[in-house]
Amino acid sequence: MKILELKNISKIYKTEGDDVNALSDVSFDISSGEFVAIMGPSGSGKSTLLHIIGLLDRQTRGEVRFVEQSTNDFSDEKLAKIRNQKIGFVFQAFNLLPRESVYDNVKMPLIYSDISEKLWEQKILKAIDSVGLSHRIKIPTMKLSGGEKQRTAIARALVCDPEIVFADEPTGNLDSKSGTQVMEIFDRLNSEGKTVVLITHEHGTASYARRVISMKDGNLVEDKMQQSSKAAIK
Ligand code: ADP
Ligand code: MG
Repeated sequence: MKILELKNISKIYKTEGDDVNALSDVSFDISSGEFVAIMGPSGSGKSTLLHIIGLLDRQTRGEVRFVEQSTNDFSDEKLAKIRNQKIGFVFQAFNLLPRESVYDNVKMPLIYSDISEKLWEQKILKAIDSVGLSHRIKIPTMKLSGGEKQRTAIARALVCDPEIVFADEPTGNLDSKSGTQVMEIFDRLNSEGKTVVLITHEHGTASYARRVISMKDGNLVEDKMQQSSKAAIK
């Protein structure tokens, strides 16, 4: 099944100076179960692309289809609901609530979901267990190491059991050992069937993916399959 289809996506940012063509006519599909890395130098349009495929921002031209439905005419409320129910996000800067515990951070998406409160605890504990943080459950996230913070963010991304997980430079703020641990979690999630799309400019991180899409100056310049090497990163 195709989870995502991008057809001729362009994104122009209007600024006070010149308009910025951040994406030019980008097309590709992502099917259920894939592990895709999006690579490219700084400014090549990776984050813009992630915001569009993650339904956080809208394209200027072209069509985005999510689970075989065009999202172009969806209201902002409907997009927010899809993001909450079907998409997990992991960011370079973790974006956790520092004073709240691991448990309460992982709970956040459930508060905005339609999932019955009776099921929350079980889902939270399962997500935390899946990233190996069951022993840290009550700790405020500001007391965690960088790697533990990112694993908490991954548990939060998984708690509503999304169709697809997007990660923007998930190892960018981590030392190589924690980065490897984080990539091994994504690798395991993918082998369990989760679709993973990861943005990175590090070849070691991208080596975990089966498919690499390369961006340059807002254009898709290469889309190729590779053997995943699971090499130590950085
Ligand atoms: P990457 O993530 O690959 O570094 P981005 O998608 O962040 O690239 O940026 C692509 C281009 O769009 C860059 O030239 C950047 O300066 C520009 N850009 C990104 N966001 C905005 C914005 N909100 N307003 C204006 N220009 C932007
Ligand atoms: Mg970026």
